[in-house]
Amino acid sequence: MAIELKKPRKNRPAWHKLTVTGVRPLTADAVEVTLAVPEDLRPAFDFKPGQHLTFQRVEPDGSEVRRSYSLASTPRELAAEGTLRLGIRSIPKGTFSGYANRQLLPGDVLEVLPPLGHFCTDIRPDRHYGSVVAGSGITPIIAIATAALEAGATVTLLYSNRTEDTTMFAAELRELERAHGDRLRLHHVRTRTDGPTPLLTGRLTPERLQEVLGTVVDAREVDEWFLCGPYEMVLGVKEVLEAAGTGEIHTELYTV
Ligand SMILES: Cc1cc2nc3c(=O)[nH]c(=O)nc-3n(C[C@H](O)[C@H](O)[C@H](O)COP(=O)(O)OP(=O)(O)OC[C@H]3O[C@@H](n4cnc5c(N)ncnc54)[C@H](O)[C@@H]3O)c2cc1C
Repeated sequence: MAIELKKPRKNRPAWHKLTVTGVRPLTADAVEVTLAVPEDLRPAFDFKPGQHLTFQRVEPDGSEVRRSYSLASTPRELAAEGTLRLGIRSIPKGTFSGYANRQLLPGDVLEVLPPLGHFCTDIRPDRHYGSVVAGSGITPIIAIATAALEAGATVTLLYSNRTEDTTMFAAELRELERAHGDRLRLHHVRTRTDGPTPLLTGRLTPERLQEVLGTVVDAREVDEWFLCGPYEMVLGVKEVLEAAGTGEIHTELYTV
């Protein structure tokens, strides 16, 4: 008798259509987009804080674009309210980010892949999570910090922006500080205006970071680092942290 050997089918992620339920300005050039996930799709869209969604869109000229955006919301919000939130900053001449910031409206339907990515960890209440981010790199960190603080963990966040007005999720961070101030150590860095101190004013060069780690932030207390943003910043910070021999380091690059 012949035995037919069937190749196991690969579990390829499938595209789904999700409806936009909110588009809210975060800054003059960034929006928060909320998507509703129907009950039957919630298991497929379950995620770990730090993961991202991938969108697919056909442009007016017929070309197809695919772009990734990190989730700013938590798995708890998905379970309780059935929503996912993202933070999208408009890039000059940016195809998808321009569309999201200028055209996207509640009621629009987007083609989305379920969450992917390895910029995450199993959050534990006894851990201290550290993060160095710039600009829209805050998006996955809002999710990680919220989940970590809600779990009882400690979070140190160094967040660099040009000015206060260009700071995405500033109100959410204030709310996290209000709710978990004793376990959230938040340090804003400003590159185009005065920061809270001279040390936290200007670009986070390796030299400046070294000084920050020696004074404002005690790197030895941090168990895991999450670095997110442009290539140059992430790699520069990683080198300094590696040299300091501190904690496990996770990285997410938005551009190369
Ligand atoms: C895993 C992952 C998660 C991401 N999460 C987020 C997020 O949460 N929020 C967010 O705003 N972005 C995020 N990004 C970046 C995002 O995917 C797009 O790359 C970005 O929005 C630009 O796409 P676009 O179609 O608007 O621009 P494009 O049409 O692709 O590019 C237009 C021009 O801008 C340049 N460019 C492209 N991306 C950037 C950039 N990030 N910075 C500066 N110049 C750029 C290009 O080289 C090109 O010259 C993420 C990227 C990755 C890989």
